[in-house]
This record gives sequence, C-alpha cells and structure tokens, in this order.
Amino acid sequence: MTATSQSLPDYHHYLDNFSVHSVIARLDDHRDGLLNAFEACCGRHVRAGRGDVLALVQEDSQGDMHTLSYAELDEQSAKLAGWFQSQGLGIGDRIACMLPRSPQLLIAVLATWRIGAVYQPLFTAFGPDAVDYRLGRAGTKLVITDHANRYKFDGLSQCPPVLAVGGATSEHAGDQDWQAALTHTSMSDKPPRLAPEAPFLQMFTSGTVGKPKGVAVPLAGMTAFAIYMELAIDLRNDDRFWNMADPGWAYGLYYAIAGPLLLGVTTHFCEAGFSAEGALAFMKRHHITNFAAAPTAYRLMKASGLFDDAHETLELRAASSAGEPLNTEVVTWVEKSLGCPVMDHYGQTETGMTCNNHHALDHLKHVGAMGVPMPGYRLAVLDAEYKELPAGEPGVLAVDIKNSPAHFFQGYTWQEKNPFVEGYYLTGDVVIRNEDGTFQFAGRDDDIITTAGYRVGPTDVENSVMTHPAVAESAAVGQPDEIRGEVIKSYIVLREGYEASDELADEIKQRVRERLSTHAFPRIIEFVDELPKTPSGKIQRFKLRAQAVEEAKASQ
Ligand code: ATP
Ligand code: MG
Repeated sequence: MTATSQSLPDYHHYLDNFSVHSVIARLDDHRDGLLNAFEACCGRHVRAGRGDVLALVQEDSQGDMHTLSYAELDEQSAKLAGWFQSQGLGIGDRIACMLPRSPQLLIAVLATWRIGAVYQPLFTAFGPDAVDYRLGRAGTKLVITDHANRYKFDGLSQCPPVLAVGGATSEHAGDQDWQAALTHTSMSDKPPRLAPEAPFLQMFTSGTVGKPKGVAVPLAGMTAFAIYMELAIDLRNDDRFWNMADPGWAYGLYYAIAGPLLLGVTTHFCEAGFSAEGALAFMKRHHITNFAAAPTAYRLMKASGLFDDAHETLELRAASSAGEPLNTEVVTWVEKSLGCPVMDHYGQTETGMTCNNHHALDHLKHVGAMGVPMPGYRLAVLDAEYKELPAGEPGVLAVDIKNSPAHFFQGYTWQEKNPFVEGYYLTGDVVIRNEDGTFQFAGRDDDIITTAGYRVGPTDVENSVMTHPAVAESAAVGQPDEIRGEVIKSYIVLREGYEASDELADEIKQRVRERLSTHAFPRIIEFVDELPKTPSGKIQRFKLRAQAVEEAKASQ
C-alpha cells in the first residue's frame, strides 16, 4: 500500500476554490434556483449553439452504429413529450422504461424530464417479479418497452399502459406504438422548472443485502452528478467517454446518461452484453479515452488475459470504477495493462458518489483507498454512539448533512428504516479514515467478520487472496466457530487453467497469512464455480455467510 504525504493541504486549497453554488448556477440558465432536468442535460446546450455535438454514439447488437446529436435529442424528445402530454402525463408522474442501451432509451429519458415527470429505470434482465415489485410501489403511469421484454408485464397486479417500441402485437393489441408517438406534434410549452427538491428519478437500490429500497432522486442531485463528472471522472469536451454500467441501475443512469449530458459531452452505449473480447473491440473501435465500469468488469477483463498488452493499442486517458471494492491487484493491473490509472469511486444509489480518487488530484492516489470526500460533502466515521472517530479507527461512514451542501438524499420512499441520526446520514458501510485523509473501505456493516476478538473487513482479506495468480474472484465471510467466534472463510473462483486442490488452498492461506496478518487469513477455503451476485454484478456475501453457517452446523 503506498500512502502519499503532501496531499491534504493541496486538497483544501482545491476545495476552497470550488463553489457548489457555481455548479448549480451553470445548470440553470435562469439562475433562480428552479430546475428542469431536460433543460440542464440538453435544452441549454442546444440554445448555446452546441446542438451539433453528439449526445450519444451507440453500437447495436448487430454492430451497426447510431448517433443522436443534442439537436436531434431535443427534437425527438419534444415529440415524445407532446405525446406524453396527450396521454395526460405530467409533473411527478413515474414513467418506467425497460429498453436495451439504445437511442430510444435516451429519448425516453429526456422526454420524461421535459414534461417534469420522473424517470424510472427497469433493468432488462429483470423478470416479472422484479418488475411487479418496482411498478407496484412506484405507482408507475406508463411503461415503455420492446417486444423482447413485453412478456414481463403480463400478469402484473396492475399493469400501466404500454408504449411499445416496434408497435403493438396481436397478443398486446392495446399497446401504443412508439413510432406513431414520435410523429406527434411537439410539446409547445416550456419544460416546467421545478424546485430542487422535486424528484426526477425513481430509483431502487441494488438489493445486495435484502429487498431493494425505493429512492426518489431530487433535481438538486444533478449538482452532485456534475461535480463528480467534472472532478472525479475528469470528463473533458474532447473525451470519448464510455461508462459500461447499465442505465437500469444508479451507476449507469446517473453517470452514463445524466452526468455526461449535464456536461454536454458524448456518451457511448454498447447494446451487447459484457464480454472481455467485445469490450476490447468496442474501446478500440470508438477510440475510448475515458472509461468507467464496475469492479466485476475489470476482474473479468483481467481474468480473460486479453488485455495484458492493451495499452499498446488503446487510447485511454482515464479509467474509474465504482459499486464494490476495487481490489488492489486490479488497480495495479489496470495501470500496467490499460496504460492509465484506475480511480476507485465510492457511492450509493441514495447519495450518488461521495468519496473519490480524483484524476485532477492524481497525487492524492492511495492505492486501496476509495479516495477523499467529494467537494460539497463532509464525511465522518462514527462509533456505535454516533460520535466521530479519529483517523485509524474503523466505524460507520456517515455524511455530515449540515456541512454537505451537495448532499441530496432525503429518505427512502416507502416504509424503510430511517437512516438519519443526529444530523448524519448513515451509509451502513464500515470504513477507516487514513492519516492522509483518504478513506479505506472495510466492508458493509453486516459483512464485518469478528474473529478471536478482532474485527476484520472482508475487503482486506479479498484483496490479499486476489494477489495469488490462480484467483479470478473471491469473497470472504465469517463462519461460526466455537473457539474464535467466527473464522474467516474464503470462497474462491479460479482462473481458467487452474485446478482446485488442497495444496493450492494451503498455498493461498499461507500467502494471506504472510502478507496480511496471522489473525486475518482464511482458515477455510472453498473453491466454487461462481459467486452469488445481484443482477448488477455485486457479490452477495450474506448468501455465502448463510451457506457457511449451514456448513458449520453440518460439520458439528
Ligand atoms: P442494498 O442497499 O439494496 O442492499 P446496495 O447497497 O448494493 O444494495 P447500491 O446503492 O447500488 O445498493 O450500492 C451502494 C453500496 O455499494 C455502498 O453502500 C457500498 O457498500 C458499495 N460500494 C459502492 N462503491 C464502492 C467502492 N468504491 N468500494 C466499496 N464498496 C462500494
Ligand atoms: Mg445499500
């Protein structure tokens, strides 16, 4: 781990020169504090004479390329918005969309915002139950989908009207036709400008540790999105930016759609699902300079072996990752193989990104840490009594709301437990603040392992296990143990070409014991074909923990 020294004073200087209010002002031509997401992401760029800039470059699954300029997005979203209004839709209505990464998806998002309605993403891999859960809670007024996904809306407790890309079929004769809607008379009135507290996105969390929680994102969130894109992503006008994350989730919707469009930059969509080969070809074909993806994508890219000399052909200038811990091994690999450093960014559906390694603050990079609080946020580490802890002590990461002007999360939309206490928003994640001001992720509160009286974060163990060349992925959990309370158990997926054996297990145990610590190494290793993950690719340690508990019982 390489800590840097001189960083903190520079960072404060940087913060002092940065004003959150200047960002808000830039999103709103009228400067009266009222906002419309369509205006912020498209309308004002067109008015400023930047209509010819491409908002989107998309490659469909046949390999054909499609583009949308900001002017075209303006024009087409005006027609769809006109059609929405003809259906009686307006401010605050939830409009859900289940479409692949396509120009239609982008038009639907912008048209929704244009009428002051709230865009609700539906990930294309969802089945009918996941759809029912989200539509039922949100009281969704319209669904936009295509033939491939249409069946998922059959048999819902209450199905809203459907606008079908590809038109109505005989099975769903009542559906409205997308093509016809796009020939509707354009919305003639100005997009309604609303208070910053008004919602523009209806999200659900990833459901990594339980039922997904409903989160309505207020327009004020755009401020934080813009700060993130500018400082942490370091997005520049001439960048060819590709955030691989699916816009069915917060990472993709906030930072592959809203973020780049707020800055008036081109975003890239690849319709085809993930493959390491496809990702490499896409990056080359589109000369990607700024790349973002979840850690699981980087791990798969690394395990594929295809990227080892990629820096010779790629044009990457910046890379970033968020959603899960980015293993230190992967950080080192990216820099060597892709030819640019990868910045680990921490965020939540609730808050957006709050703690980041910044490209602009390259000297602050502390490998293995998730960076520093984003301008506009003050983050604290709290003990069990909600008192702030000094550097070096693990505790729950919290946002100090009164000192965080960019903070926008107001609470869950439905009945969930209250995450606010004494002026703090509690993230539920355990971190340690390092002496240099960077934050170190230890694990989710529930994932922390207590072994022989020590609290061990799974992230450290996983990082260490991952340094073994045979390991593609791993997850560490606590298994109940009579003597130690819990022992660390690592579930490991091996890279192709490696065979599971007791010798290999011993070798990995020994390696972690020597490199990490004699108390925080996995005493038990199980090789598995895959790890349980959410649809967005996050490891679900709670499922492995339940499995480990059962295995402990069975072996007694
Ligand atoms: P749910 O809240 O429904 O259980 P979730 O917490 O996975 O699901 P998201 O909002 O998508 O839902 O994810 C936020 C969480 O992801 C964070 O609270 C943290 O646990 C994890 N996370 C995000 N970025 C990072 C990162 N850079 N390093 C470590 N963990 C991260
Ligand atoms: Mg969460």
